Amino acid sequence: MYTGSCLCGAVRYEIHGDVDRTSLCWCTMCQKQHGAACGPYANVASAALRIVAGAESITRYASSPGVERAFCGVCGANLTWQMADHSDRIAVTLGTFDTPYEGRVAHELHTESKPGWLP
Ligand SMILES: [Zn+2]
Ligand SMILES: [Zn+2]
Repeated sequence: MYTGSCLCGAVRYEIHGDVDRTSLCWCTMCQKQHGAACGPYANVASAALRIVAGAESITRYASSPGVERAFCGVCGANLTWQMADHSDRIAVTLGTFDTPYEGRVAHELHTESKPGWLP
């Protein structure tokens, strides 16, 4: 099991299942949302993700039709990305994990918009 939380600690979650489908998404929308070079995600079964605290603090934003990004409405930490057409899966931000993820990221998406300012 993996545990995770937002920056302020209001939202806490558990992942009861395997974490193997990990990715870095370099798309410009993830760059905007994360304020960072990419969005790091673990794609897990939706049923495996349990919000154990702070569900009422979660704010959702539809960044494009059928795509919902969820974040803590208190501290702004990005938590999940999900497509309505594939609601059996949900992408959880690796940076909010409290249990260290020991694997290596498996996939990179939208590498064409990788910023030039990376070291
Ligand atoms: Zn928070
Ligand atoms: Zn993206």
